[in-house]
Amino acid sequence: MHAEVEAGFEVVWRETLASSGFVGGRAVADFESQWAQYCGRGHAVGVANGTDAIELSLRALGIGEGDEVLVPANTFIATPAAVVAAGAIPRFVDVDEHTLLVTASLLDAAITPSTAAVIVVHLYGQLPDMDAIAAVVDRAGLALVEDAAQAHGATWRGRRAGAFGRAGCFSFYPGKNLGALGDGGAIVTDDAALAESIRSLANHGRAESSHFAHEVVGRNSRLDGLQAGLLSVKLARLDDWNGGRREAHRLYGLGLAGSTAVQVTVADGAESVFHLEVVRTRQRDAVAAGLERRGVATGIHYPIPCHRQVGFARWADGPLPVAERTAGEILSLPMYPHLTADGVTRVCSALAEVLQEIGGSNDG
Ligand SMILES: *Cc1c(COP(=O)(O)O)cnc(C)c1O
Repeated sequence: MHAEVEAGFEVVWRETLASSGFVGGRAVADFESQWAQYCGRGHAVGVANGTDAIELSLRALGIGEGDEVLVPANTFIATPAAVVAAGAIPRFVDVDEHTLLVTASLLDAAITPSTAAVIVVHLYGQLPDMDAIAAVVDRAGLALVEDAAQAHGATWRGRRAGAFGRAGCFSFYPGKNLGALGDGGAIVTDDAALAESIRSLANHGRAESSHFAHEVVGRNSRLDGLQAGLLSVKLARLDDWNGGRREAHRLYGLGLAGSTAVQVTVADGAESVFHLEVVRTRQRDAVAAGLERRGVATGIHYPIPCHRQVGFARWADGPLPVAERTAGEILSLPMYPHLTADGVTRVCSALAEVLQEIGGSNDG
């Protein structure tokens, strides 16, 4: 990826040195407007990372002490951690058997009088049925926040991730579909007042009008000018890179036809950007070990559902059977924009060999 954009990076580096726009500045403002436009929203606010994007969105929405926020049990730990950092209480919701995402009906059943907000996570790069979810959340009068940290450019019925909630939260951690060369994050929203209050919270609670007036207690969560400039360079390539991931996913589909390792379902209406290529398989740990022996690296996203994490035990009120069962079955295969057809074939052959070796029949 970076070989393709190195020349652009060098220009950004020289411009950053020349302007001394190290924190905030023009490069950040430029990237923010490009990112808002890309997501189809009126405003974007750059922050230090994706976790802060979620926390600051909740705080700016007035969600804090005593408020409960619904989050999927199957997500990266940063989602509930951001809820706790905002002073609120995470309530874990089970996920759909096929997409491994929350659904409108699971959320509906989990809403109580103490619920203040719902965080939907577009895990692995795909959105759940956002029309149905928005209807449930609106009917209950709650705030919808999107954790789109794995879904840069993904769509639900043609609308991009980040375009559905009061706030759409992104991470630009290097491994994400759009990644900086360090940490970064952003919030997109159509609500100008919300954008302004997030910007203030992220910049020591400064008022827009004055560098020295602190109207609220804020903190420091800003995007570097250098990272913003690099992100602008990479944003121009994002759709092509997501296209490379989609093609790799399609090839995996062909290569895994008839296998007992089954790809996670992409819902009709969703166009995934395949941040991860996740399959479900029995004897997952043996499969991962067998692939490792054949030189194929894998990951697990995520091996322990959030409500089973020791640090979150006090908010666990399971059981959440689907999240708990599938955590033992999911395996992330190699996935990146420049993965070749030969690469996919190699992984699929190794996987077929391993499944045969451990006695799983490979003909379904
Ligand atoms: C990466 C990620 C985050 C956190 O982003 P950071 O930039 O690492 O703070 C939050 N939620 C999900 C689903 C993520 O994948």
